[in-house]
Formats: sequence, C-alpha cells, structure tokens
Amino acid sequence: MQQLWHFIDGKRVEGTSGRSADVYNPATGEVQAQVPLANAAELDKAVAGAVAAQPEWAATNPQRRARVLMEFIRLLHRDMDKLAEALSREHGKTIPDAKGDVIRGLEVAEFCLGAPHLLKGEYTDGAGPGIDMYSMRQPVGIAAGITPFNFPAMIPMWKFCPAIAAGNAFILKPSERDPSVPLMLAELMQEAGLPDGILQVVNGDKEAVDAILDHEAISAVGFVGSTPIAAYIYERGCANGKRVQCFGGAKNHMIIMPDADMEQAADALVGAGFGAAGERCMAISVAVPVGDETADRLIEKLAPKVEALKIGPYTSDDADFGPLVTSEAKRRVEGLVQSGVDAGAKLVVDGRGFSMQGYEDGFFHGACLFDHVTPDMDIYTQEIFGPVLSTVRAQSYEEALKLAMDHEYGNGTAIFTRDGDAARDFAARVNVGMVGINVPIPVPLAYHTFGGWKKSVFGDLNQHGPDAFRFYTKTKTVTARWPSGIKDGAEFVIPTMK
Ligand code: NAD
Repeated sequence: MQQLWHFIDGKRVEGTSGRSADVYNPATGEVQAQVPLANAAELDKAVAGAVAAQPEWAATNPQRRARVLMEFIRLLHRDMDKLAEALSREHGKTIPDAKGDVIRGLEVAEFCLGAPHLLKGEYTDGAGPGIDMYSMRQPVGIAAGITPFNFPAMIPMWKFCPAIAAGNAFILKPSERDPSVPLMLAELMQEAGLPDGILQVVNGDKEAVDAILDHEAISAVGFVGSTPIAAYIYERGCANGKRVQCFGGAKNHMIIMPDADMEQAADALVGAGFGAAGERCMAISVAVPVGDETADRLIEKLAPKVEALKIGPYTSDDADFGPLVTSEAKRRVEGLVQSGVDAGAKLVVDGRGFSMQGYEDGFFHGACLFDHVTPDMDIYTQEIFGPVLSTVRAQSYEEALKLAMDHEYGNGTAIFTRDGDAARDFAARVNVGMVGINVPIPVPLAYHTFGGWKKSVFGDLNQHGPDAFRFYTKTKTVTARWPSGIKDGAEFVIPTMK
C-alpha cells in the first residue's frame, strides 16, 4: 500500500496527525494508497515556510517568475503520459480525457507567461500641476486553493499558476480522493526552478480546510467544489477578513430548437452528458427540446447513441467513460435514478445494474436517459454528477429559457439552433455565466475567464484570464507631486482637480 505525503518546503513530508484517508482505484474498487490528513499544526508549518519564502519570490522580477512556468509547461509535456496514468488510476476517467485535464491546466500556465504584461499598472502623467498618479498590482502574499476531485490537474493549475506568477506563495489543499497528480505537479514546479516554500501541498479534509480559513497569514482563498461547501467556505473565509472566491455545483441546460441539426445536437448531448461519467461541472445534465415533435426526433436519435456508449476501466482503449469516483458516489446516483423512476419520469435508457466483467467491484454506473422529467423532480433540482441525462420538454422557446433561468444553478448552458436571432436573444437574456451557441460545453479558453452565476458561485471575480491576476493581487495607487517654484500654503479642503 502506497503512503502519500504532503509537499512542504520542497520536500515530501510524512503526515503526523495520525489521520489518513483511503485513495481508491475506482475501476477495481481497491484501495491503492493512503493519503495523510493534515491537522492545524501541519498547516501552520506549511504556512510558516510560505511566509518565509514569499518576499524574495515577490521581489523576483515577473519575467523570471514567468520563465519558471515556461519550463513547467515543458515538463508537463515531457511527463504527460505519467500524469495521465496517475490521474486516471485515481479518478477513473479515460486516458485521453485525463490528458485533456492536464492540458486545460497547462493552457492557463501558458496564459500566465504574460504575467509581466498582466501585472503592469496604470499611469497618469500630469494628473495636476506637478502631479503624477500611478497604480501597481502587488501580490496578496499567501493564497490558498481548495480543489475538487473531478479535475485534479486542471483546477489546481488554474489556481496556483496565476497566484505564483503574480508573486504569491500558494498553499494547495487538493481533493483527498485523488491527491497524487497535485503532488506530482508540485514536484514539477520545483524541477522547473520554483524556490522551496512557494508551492506547498497540504493534504487533508475539513480539518485542514478549517485551519486554512482561520489562518491569519492567508489572505486569499480560492475554492472549487460542491455548492454547500462553497457557501460554507465563503462565509467562514469572509468572516475572517479574507478575499474569497468559491465556485460551486451546476445543472447545465441545453436547449434544442426545432431548427437545430438533430444529429449534431444528439452527438453533442452524448459527449457533454456522459463524458467523464457526467462528473464535470460543465456537463450537460438537462436537455430541453422545444416542442414535442423536436423532443420525439431528439430522443429517437439520442437513445441508440446512449445505448451504444462504451464503459470501461481507463486501461481499455475504447471506453467512452469510466467508473464513478467512489462507491458512495455510485450509490447516490443509483438513489437519484430510482427517485426519477418513482416520480414518473420515463427511463428511456436504463443503465441500472451495470456490471463490468472482471471489474465487478468497480464503481461503474451505466448510462441513463430520462424523458418527461418535470421541474419538481429531484433528478431535475439536484446535481446528479453521474452518467444521467434528463429531458424536460418545453412547449416554447420562452418556456425553455425560463427553465434555465429559474434553476438555482447558473454555471453553463447551451442553445442548439440555426437561427442567429434566437441564439443572440438567448445569450443576452439567460442568467447563466457561460453560454454555448452550438457548443455544448462552453468552457472559456485560458485568456477569458471561467465562472458561473447564481448558486454556482460565491464572490465576484472569475477563474483564470485577467480576473485571476486581479484576485491574486492588491491594487496600490500612488499620487506623487513634485512641486516646482513657489510652494503653496496648507490646503484644508479635499483636493479636487480644478
Ligand atoms: P466537494 O465539495 O465534496 O469537495 C471539494 C473540496 O472541499 C475538497 O478539497 C474537499 O476536501 C473539501 N471539503 C469537502 N467537504 C468539506 C467540508 N465539510 N468542509 C470543508 N471542506 C470540505 O466537491 P467534490 O465532490 O470534490 O467535487 C464535485 C463538485 O465540484 C460538484 O458539485 C461540481 O459541480 C463542483 N465543481 C465545480 C466547478 C466550477 O468551476 N463551478 C468545477 C469543478 C467541480
């Protein structure tokens, strides 16, 4: 049994709390490693190391900081196969999908190569007689990130790349379900030339998270995970005077207009609904065809595609998706599917009871397609986070739009249509943070920003893109006056520009 570690001050450090968690291979159901769960004293040590290292890092010029990321990117490419294998072994997603997980993080590292440009402040020459005004962006100091299991490479990189490029030290608390890749990333950053103490990986659960939220030296906390925990972290972190951004759960609707290319829409739904076994915050979990005729045509195309999906362990060459992350996750999905059947939704494709020969103890769940789902059902209101696609039939475009708008989550949404006017109207009116037009998973590229609305987010700035540099820096504005000639007397009225 492998014993994992924390990564503190450039070294692998054994856990000392006496607490640890099992890390599974979801395909076999076997425990493959133990991850230590840090207590407050262990977190303290990591923060002390970060506090000691950060001033010199902040004083390193931004081009040199960016060059560390440049080398990190090269190392990610070098170790891509190794990273993807470790990721799939703990998460369960297929190898090509695991590579995608690494690459969407790597792309944020690429964006951060522009740190010197992104950190440039503003300057007003001659704001008044002899007066110049300028602002600079300075690091917040020590930032922390608490990340979910479903993108164990991408989301840690979304957080630590901009934070570190901006001159901060970073404490990463990855998901205890799949901690190996975050640990590997920290060692690659060290190999790339990052000084010890600038990226600390502290493994743990609620105890470590609470210690982060209460630690005085940590100024900013970024979180990604489920909405109840996002709300908790936002409240506790803000109450402790920190800058906090939390990204939560989702229920992403895809609207299919009568004029849509039904083949294209069905393919998009299958990929976006079932890829990574539906364990994506940008998965499409609700299809909303407009009109019964559209719905009938869609289900006719969709059902055989869902039935044909190949499920398998990450080691198989042709699997479309793998197992769920844990046996609890599998039980939860099973319970929700049953609740949908009990509530009267029509289970067009029934993936219940799926078992994989040779992998009977794995956490696999078959693909399920529901039709005639209504908004009062649990399978509609709750995020299932499994391979389950629900179809809610709307009678008009306005009814479809209202469904997406009334749902408490607002992470992503999509519309499939050939009508530019409908697409434009949808993009303008829908109260959801990321919108796809004939694109089912509209995850913005690294140089734009990522974030939902409503209960999918707590805080205001988004992840990656220019917002990340705003989140991880503080603005300082300097007003400088170099008077020439006769000096004026004291001023007692608030200065205004005359
Ligand atoms: P989770 O909320 O269970 O865990 C996320 C992190 O919080 C982990 O590091 C975990 O250790 C920690 N945590 C768990 N319980 C805690 C508690 N009681 N107190 C303090 N910390 C706690 O989420 P998950 O199951 O790992 O990830 C899946 C969820 O993440 C889904 O809801 C998904 O939609 C969401 N997600 C959202 C985005 C986004 O950008 N909006 C991206 C990916 C995933």
